[in-house]
Amino acid sequence: MPVDYLPQHPEREHWDVIIVGTGMGGSTVGYELARRGRRVLFLEKGKLLHGDPGASVPPPPAADLAELRMGAGCWPLPLQGETSFGKIEFYAPWGCGSGGSTSIYGAQLERFSPADFRPRANFPDVPDANLPERWPISYDELVPYYRRAEALYRVYGTPDPLNPDPDTSLRVPPPLSARDQVLYESFLQLGLHPYRSHVGFDYGQACRECLRHCAQGCKSDAGRVCLMPALTHHGARILPECEVLALVADNGRVSAVRGRWKGAEITIPANAVVLAAGALMTPLLLLNSRSSRWANGLANRSGQVGRNLMLHTSDYVAIDPGEWYSAQGPVRAVALNDFYVDDGQKLGNLQSLGFPEALGPSFMLEYLRFIEVKEPHWWRRLTHPFLPLVARLAPRVLRRASLFATIVEDLPLERNRILPDPNAWNGMRFEYQYTRELWSRNRRFRKRIAEVLSSRHRVTVVTGSRNNLNYGHVCGTCRFGEDPATSVLDGTNRAHDLDNLYVVDASFFPSSGGTNPSLTIAANALRVGGIIHDRLP
Ligand SMILES: Cc1cc2nc3c(=O)[nH]c(=O)nc-3n(C[C@H](O)[C@H](O)[C@H](O)COP(=O)(O)OP(=O)(O)OC[C@H]3O[C@@H](n4cnc5c(N)ncnc54)[C@H](O)[C@@H]3O)c2cc1C
Repeated sequence: MPVDYLPQHPEREHWDVIIVGTGMGGSTVGYELARRGRRVLFLEKGKLLHGDPGASVPPPPAADLAELRMGAGCWPLPLQGETSFGKIEFYAPWGCGSGGSTSIYGAQLERFSPADFRPRANFPDVPDANLPERWPISYDELVPYYRRAEALYRVYGTPDPLNPDPDTSLRVPPPLSARDQVLYESFLQLGLHPYRSHVGFDYGQACRECLRHCAQGCKSDAGRVCLMPALTHHGARILPECEVLALVADNGRVSAVRGRWKGAEITIPANAVVLAAGALMTPLLLLNSRSSRWANGLANRSGQVGRNLMLHTSDYVAIDPGEWYSAQGPVRAVALNDFYVDDGQKLGNLQSLGFPEALGPSFMLEYLRFIEVKEPHWWRRLTHPFLPLVARLAPRVLRRASLFATIVEDLPLERNRILPDPNAWNGMRFEYQYTRELWSRNRRFRKRIAEVLSSRHRVTVVTGSRNNLNYGHVCGTCRFGEDPATSVLDGTNRAHDLDNLYVVDASFFPSSGGTNPSLTIAANALRVGGIIHDRLP
C-alpha cells in the first residue's frame, strides 16, 4: 500500500525539527532524530526519487532541461563563478532531490585521518590559509560515529593498514579483478599499504557502481539508507519540491522556515531548524536571512558565512600493470594512504576508479566532456575540436591500465567564497583562487606517484589541464570552531548566537581533509542528531 509521506497541514502541525535538504547531512541527522521519536519534517528543493513517487509532483509533459535534470536527481541550473582560470558557468556536479548529491555520488566512504583534526600543524608555512589549530572535536570522539555510519551505510572494504580500527564493521568486498589484483600485489611489493576501498554498494549481479541515481537500489545513498527509513518506519514527513528561501529569527532563536511550495509561499514553525542544503546553498540561505538584528546575515557575527570555500583537487592517473589482464570485478577497488602525509607534506588519498574492460572511444569522449565542462569558455573553444581525436587515440595507449584518482586537500582562504547575486542563476555566484601552494602540492603528488610506481608500471596523468578542481567535494562555508569571532558554528554544530539553529552539511568543515567527505558528514550528523535530541524539550 502506498504511504503518503506528505504532512496534512505542514504550517499548522507541531514539528520538533525542520531539516532543510535531504543529502548526506540532512537525511542522516533526520533519520537519527526520527528514530529517537522526534517529529521531523524534511524540506527538499528537488524531487522525491526514492520510494513512492506518488508523493512527488509529476514533471510537466513537455519537460525543459531544468525539469529533466531534476528528474535525474541533478541540480537544475548552472553554477556561475570566477576562478583563477577565468569566468565559468556550467552544470556543476551537485545533486538535487532525495539523497542530495549522494544520489549521484561514487559512494566511496572513507574516514578522515587523525591528522586532519589538527589541520594547522600540517601546514605551518601557509600563513594565508585560515586553518585552526584543531577541529573542536577529535578523531577519537568521532570514531564511535564513524563505526555507526559504516554499519548504516553498509560499507564494504578492508581496514586501512595506516589507520586500522579493530572494531570496524566493514563488509567483505567481492574479489578484485585480475588487473586490480596484480596492481594490489605490486603495491605491496613496493612497500606500500593498499587496502580494499571503502565503498557503499551492495554488489549484486547488475551493479555497475554508477554515478547516476540508482533505481536498482544497490547504492548506499542517503535517500535509500536514511531518508526512506525515517519516512516509512519512524513517522518523519517530507515536502519535496519545496525550496527554502530564508529563515525567520528573532534575537536568539529561529522561529520558522520560509519556503516556496506548489507556487505559493509557506512559513513553517519548528522547535529547531537544521540546515543541510549543501555548502553552496546553506550559506546563501543564512546571508539571505538578513534582518535589522542580523544585518550581515543570520549567524554571521564572525563574517565567515560563505567564506573559506574548499573544493579538493583531483588528478586522474592511469596505472598500467604491464600486461593485459581482465578488469571484470568491482570498480572502486583499491586505495592507499601512503601519500596522505608524504615526508611531512600533506597530500591525500589515491583511489582506483577502474576503466571499463573494453575502453573505447565513446567512453573516453564522455569522460573528456565530463572534465571539460568546468573550464572557462575560451579554453573549451580551443580544445573542444580535438576531443574526438584524443578519444580515439587514448584507448590505444591506456587499454591495459586502471584509472586512479588523487584527492588533494584544499586549504581554507577567506577570499574563496560564495556570495549572493540576485542576477545570477541560483541567486549566487562564487569566487575561487587556485593558489601556487595548492598547485605545488598537486605537482608533488603526481611526481611522487610516478617515482614510487615507475619501476614497475607506466604511470600517465590524464587530467586534461591544470584545472583539476573537484566541484563534487565543496565544503567549508559555515565552519565550526571554538571561537565565535572566527567560526559560524560551535563544536555541536549549533550557530554561535542562535539557540536552535544547526548546520550539518559539508559547510561545517574547518579544513577539507585529504579524502572523500561523505562518511565524515554522516558520522558527524549522527553525533549532532543525538545532541539535538537531548536538548529538545
Ligand atoms: C559526481 C559526484 C561524485 C561524488 N563521489 C563521492 C564519493 O565517492 N565519496 C564521497 O564521500 N563523496 C562523494 N561526493 C561528494 C558528496 O556527494 C557530497 O560531499 C555530499 O553529498 C555532501 O553532502 P551535503 O549534506 O553537504 O549536501 P548534499 O548531499 O548536496 O545535499 C544538499 C541537499 O539540499 C537540497 N537543497 C539545496 N538548497 C535547498 C533549498 N533552498 N531548499 C530546500 N532544499 C535545498 C539539495 O537539493 C540537496 O538535496 C561526490 C559528489 C558528486 C557530485
